[in-house]
Amino acid sequence: MKKPTEEAVLWSALFEQSGDGMVVLRQNGSVYRVNQCYADMLGYTVEAMKELYVWDWDTQFSQCELQQMLLTVDNSGEHFNTQQRRKDGAIIDVELSNNSVLYQGENLIFCIARDITKRKLTEERLRHKEELLQSIASQVPGALYQYRMTPEGTRSFPYFSEGAVELGGLSLEELYRSGAAPIMSRILPEDAAMVEANIQKTAKQLAHAQSEFRILHGDGSIRWIESRSAAKKEVDGSILWTGILLDITQRKLAEERVRTMAITDGLTGITNRQEISRLLAYEVERTARYDTPFSLIMYDLDHFKQVNDQFGHNAGDEVLKTVTKLVNDTIRGIDLHGRWGGEEFMIILPQTQLEAAKNIAEKLRQAVAAYHFEKIGTVTASFGVAERAPQENSQLIAQRVDEALYRAKMRGRNRVET
Ligand code: GH3
Ligand code: MG
Ligand code: MG
Repeated sequence: MKKPTEEAVLWSALFEQSGDGMVVLRQNGSVYRVNQCYADMLGYTVEAMKELYVWDWDTQFSQCELQQMLLTVDNSGEHFNTQQRRKDGAIIDVELSNNSVLYQGENLIFCIARDITKRKLTEERLRHKEELLQSIASQVPGALYQYRMTPEGTRSFPYFSEGAVELGGLSLEELYRSGAAPIMSRILPEDAAMVEANIQKTAKQLAHAQSEFRILHGDGSIRWIESRSAAKKEVDGSILWTGILLDITQRKLAEERVRTMAITDGLTGITNRQEISRLLAYEVERTARYDTPFSLIMYDLDHFKQVNDQFGHNAGDEVLKTVTKLVNDTIRGIDLHGRWGGEEFMIILPQTQLEAAKNIAEKLRQAVAAYHFEKIGTVTASFGVAERAPQENSQLIAQRVDEALYRAKMRGRNRVET
């Protein structure tokens, strides 16, 4: 027997031990040689396969097509996917590459086959998962997102769900194209530092993050956004936040309305007793700390009972509304005006000494007295004024200004007393 050349031994070993299926076909479709791996892939013995033609196991192409293909195979190593039937009938997905080689006057076709059924199944599952994610993402309110920060500090948004378009008023394309910094710059400057601090904190603790902030929407309006996310560390040391963004503008507006209602007097629209008391206590604390002056004015309508008795309670209400408006129009923006009792009001005048406060009270007295109320005519008010004395607490100064008002009543009403 002729001794095989070294090259033949090497190629034979390679053929037999390859992890890929290999088959050499004759141009008529019969098997010239097949390796164990390919026989295993199709569930035959090597011997049994030698009895077969390629159309016995390929199910994607007809015998006619395969015969045509066998004639046209060249040596470019063309890749394509096909389906083949195992001996047990199961169909597998196979990736093929073919080469034709002329050997001893015969055209042989070398095929390398890889079973890609599992890969295709994995791909299919992945595609299903993506579809599932997408359909979930389209159902959740708001937007799903991912935010990444590399160890070098480079930021990006690897993912936004469709909902981000409505939330931010930018198209998905714009969101992906613009990069992280321009998106983050839409957060109002007042809130940006808090958001950044939250990013740094949760990056360190790998904790759940939750924050509320305002953004400039694409349509130019300001929206309140709530973000909830979980931070994870990736293999390269990057931090990846995955979470949800919600538009909470309506909730914030409702909260604001409730808050405003809680501190506002229903009739006059100015600060109510509870809030003006709180503000007074706060002002006392502030002036004590910074050693600045502040004064109080307390005023009360004169003979108001008569107004009610003569013109009715509703007319009295109108007077109260008008008087508080006259006062609001006269005092400064930093002054705080509240309803202390029925027809008794308090004004806190920050950074104001007694003389200046007296002058303001006098202006107010004149403004009220000069106003002509329809049907009722004129109404007057009496004013007490006090400047906070050192060490005086809010109760004491309130009491002192009340006493000053009492003096104004005693000395004839429609006057200012200290
Ligand atoms: P004085 O000059 O001494 O202050 O006399 P007065 O009549 O204003 O004083 P008094 O405290 O005896 O009466 C206050 C009146 O204010 C009694 C009450 O009917 C009326 N009043 C209190 N709150 C309201 C209100 O919300 N609406 C109306 N229409 N009247 C009110
Ligand atoms: Mg009164
Ligand atoms: Mg009164």
